[in-house]
Amino acid sequence: MNTKVVRIKEEEKTRETLEKNPGLLEAAEILKNGGLVAFPTETVYGLGANALNEEAAKKIYAAKGRPSDNPLIAHISCMEELPAIVKEIPEAGRKLAEKYWPGPLTMIFPKKDIVPYGTTGGLDTVAVRMPVDPVANCLIHLAGVPIAAPSANTSGRPSPTCAAHVQEDLDGRIEMILDGGPVGIGLESTIVDLSEGVPTILRPGYINQQMLEEVIGKTEIDRAILSDDSGIKPKAPGMKYRHYAPKASLTIVEGEQEKVTAKINELLKEGEAAGEKIGVIASTETAADYLGGVVRTIGSRSDELSISRHLFGILRDFDTLQVDRIYSESFETPQMGQAIMNRLMKAAGHQVMEV
Ligand code: AMP
Ligand code: MG
Repeated sequence: MNTKVVRIKEEEKTRETLEKNPGLLEAAEILKNGGLVAFPTETVYGLGANALNEEAAKKIYAAKGRPSDNPLIAHISCMEELPAIVKEIPEAGRKLAEKYWPGPLTMIFPKKDIVPYGTTGGLDTVAVRMPVDPVANCLIHLAGVPIAAPSANTSGRPSPTCAAHVQEDLDGRIEMILDGGPVGIGLESTIVDLSEGVPTILRPGYINQQMLEEVIGKTEIDRAILSDDSGIKPKAPGMKYRHYAPKASLTIVEGEQEKVTAKINELLKEGEAAGEKIGVIASTETAADYLGGVVRTIGSRSDELSISRHLFGILRDFDTLQVDRIYSESFETPQMGQAIMNRLMKAAGHQVMEV
């Protein structure tokens, strides 16, 4: 299959212009006809298919090499599209939707029969998100059906934060890629389960626990997110899989910054003496302090979006550069620290060195 790439420029991203964009109209047709289209969202690039068409959903699993028990998130463009796919909308869901939709928040509701088990991985619940990215939102609107869209990467690889990442993984396997430039957040949506009891955060993201609790009161965090014990079964099936892992072994070095820098420099020297190529993930503030290796600046500690946005791309870079070992500083930033460290810890297979 030939994968068509359509570039959408910044100045084309108004609703009025997008609704007439030939690329978007063609993408919507592909989706209606059961095909696959990758598109930008504010979190990461998604791989879309008609969420109500079991055959189309199956194609997503095949293209990504995704285990079939890992459910897909259904994406809608406006609130009017929600009642068609969920049995009930609890009060907490209404409030969160009002505050954070459209945006990087996924909520889990009891599903209606119209949503096939092929989309929900056999579950009686469905995860729903309403993206705010203008291209994503308009595409879903034009398709006229909810769009199942997991991250548009090969299963296990870091999620794609630009169209080139999607091409790297899925070229020749999908009909079209809409290239809307690099994404703004760079980490997948926050997932909150509203289908039973106290609302529970299944995956941390840009919208953090405090932001949820400001709107709906007490929430819980799935224990599997906080623990490095792989024996705890996460409630979001997808969270149990090895994810984001670069080919090289990654270690997070934690502690006072001066000690961290000194330790990484020591490990660098050792590694390079042994003939290894070493990658370092540093911040703008510290990058110049490293005395060798392939240093990648993730972003500034005073701008956490710069950090979240670059994490997956840097992990991909290190694969391309074929480094043997990676050391990373830790990034416990105020709003997204939990989300950033959740992805980094997974990428590191929970290897942490305290100094
Ligand atoms: P991705 O689309 O790659 O960002 O992954 C979607 C995530 O949402 C996975 O971790 C899934 O396990 C999770 N998810 C989707 N639907 C449900 C559901 N009905 N219940 C619990 N987790 C879900
Ligand atoms: Mg994913």
